[in-house]
Amino acid sequence: MARIPPTSLLPTHEVTNQPDDFAGTNLYTADAALREAALREGGEWLDESLRELGEQAGSAEMLELGMLANRHPPELLSFDRYGRRIDEVRFHPAYHELMTRAMDCGIHDVAWTVNRPGGHVAHAARLALFTQAEAGTMCPMSMTYAAVPALRAGGADARWLEKLLGGRYDPDLAPIATKRGITIGMAMTEKQGGSDVRANTTRAYRQDNGSYRLIGHKWFCSAPMSDGFLTLAYTEDGLSCFLAPRVTPDGERNSIQIMRLKDKLGNRSNASSEIEYHDAYGALLGEEGGGIKVIIDMVHHTRLGTIAGTLGIMRMALAQAFHHTSGRRVFQRTLIDQPLMRSVLADLAVEYEAAAALVMRVGRAFDGTDESERAFSRLAVAVAKYWLTKRCPGFVYECMECLGGAGYVEESMMPRLFRESPLNAIWEGSGNVIALDILRTLARKSGAALEVYAAELALAGGGDERLDAAAAELLSILDRAAPAEAEARHVAEKLALLLQAALLVRHAPQAVSDLFIGSRIAGQAGHSYGAFAGEVPIKPVIDRQMSAVA
Ligand SMILES: Cc1cc2nc3c(=O)[nH]c(=O)nc-3n(C[C@H](O)[C@H](O)[C@H](O)COP(=O)(O)OP(=O)(O)OC[C@H]3O[C@@H](n4cnc5c(N)ncnc54)[C@H](O)[C@@H]3O)c2cc1C
Repeated sequence: MARIPPTSLLPTHEVTNQPDDFAGTNLYTADAALREAALREGGEWLDESLRELGEQAGSAEMLELGMLANRHPPELLSFDRYGRRIDEVRFHPAYHELMTRAMDCGIHDVAWTVNRPGGHVAHAARLALFTQAEAGTMCPMSMTYAAVPALRAGGADARWLEKLLGGRYDPDLAPIATKRGITIGMAMTEKQGGSDVRANTTRAYRQDNGSYRLIGHKWFCSAPMSDGFLTLAYTEDGLSCFLAPRVTPDGERNSIQIMRLKDKLGNRSNASSEIEYHDAYGALLGEEGGGIKVIIDMVHHTRLGTIAGTLGIMRMALAQAFHHTSGRRVFQRTLIDQPLMRSVLADLAVEYEAAAALVMRVGRAFDGTDESERAFSRLAVAVAKYWLTKRCPGFVYECMECLGGAGYVEESMMPRLFRESPLNAIWEGSGNVIALDILRTLARKSGAALEVYAAELALAGGGDERLDAAAAELLSILDRAAPAEAEARHVAEKLALLLQAALLVRHAPQAVSDLFIGSRIAGQAGHSYGAFAGEVPIKPVIDRQMSAVA
């Protein structure tokens, strides 16, 4: 039933010059960059499900759920009314509804269940779309998706994988055998060290029956209502990875206590917590002493989630900026027709185009089965994570400014997006850690990441002289000597920009790649958005955002 419009004629004035409702936009079909990149990298089969999700995620109902789940953050219930420990988190119903929808559309498992190329692209594209309505629920989705390789490392009861793949949201605290689906969290970071997990102090003691007892703490454990946590702990043989369930195989609450929930800048729907293991039950995954090897696979996969999530945040911010500026007039012109606003919007649009092309290309690398694609995925996901997450807060801020004062108000979504925007840079490897990781990947002889990266750039060879020259210069520098640690950010940035430019040259309309390369590689722009030197052709870039397929 059509909604009865609000009253614009008020006793003291008439409400005019405000945009129409944003809700009701199909977030997928309105996004040419994402749609083209997802289908190109993942295959046409993605189209239908993404179209459905785009419609759902852009609906008034879903946007409202996202708002409610963040306005009413989770609450820790340490004890029941009689003083017995329960260590449970109470969420607003909107959170449960969002989790249900996220698992119904298979964000957690599509990559592992489709049995055709494009599964990881589907995961990334769905996660990017869902994030636009709500980002916090994507943390448990991303971790659950990423836990699959670790669960396959051996040691976990086969039912964990059975319940994860094809599973549906089931928030009950119950033995997994009785559940419709499960979610998995990860617990690595401790008070004395997060990036450096070798500083962990949590210990694991082997029992006669082959299980382990865990004693220690974790300083960050998001989604503490997950069914199990991949936990790093030391045994005599070194750092090892364990699956610590919330319910033990005997059907009892595992002795994992939630000490408190974090009072966070953003990401408020998601209950990030501090936990302690009080002789908690754990099952070893992989081998004793092989914990880093097991967890690193999970971390690698969660990084795909961090870049897809960043893409979603950027997209919603950009969509809001275009929506507002198309629906408001200032100084006798619609905002989007003011020349300086057009420069800002075009600059933001090419930033997003480049991000979408990069994320979907990285998704395809995760789908790759040969060694060169695997090497490319290791390098490219780190490069993308470094650069996109660094760009995201400034990008969202600039979009916010396009809305003027309305952008600073919670109802616009922009404050929530802004608070969310720094997070993907921090978890799963903070900026410096990621940049150093990139240097290590480049230095590794096996896998030959640099050659694979160079081959990817070569595919765009001859498309743009400025890009060709910049690529030749960077590759010859990297070929000559390994960069020093202090240069890692410089290298990461260059690798990212050239890769984005190469993808745009090959796949985007020429106006988009020209603007990107001119401003980001050939230095024809300043440091703020829209600060182009001289006249640049931006009409096709703006038109592409406006001519969304309905
Ligand atoms: C909302 C939220 C949720 C989280 N959820 C989880 C979770 O579910 N599970 C989990 O295990 N963790 C989680 N984390 C923790 C997160 O992964 C860590 O905070 C992150 O890995 C950084 O570790 P740290 O906080 O100990 O910082 P540190 O390791 O102390 O790093 C501090 C800074 O130093 C930099 N740095 C580190 N090493 C170097 C170096 N060699 N050279 C130069 N600079 C360096 C880092 O880049 C960083 O900027 C979460 C964090 C947040 C914010």
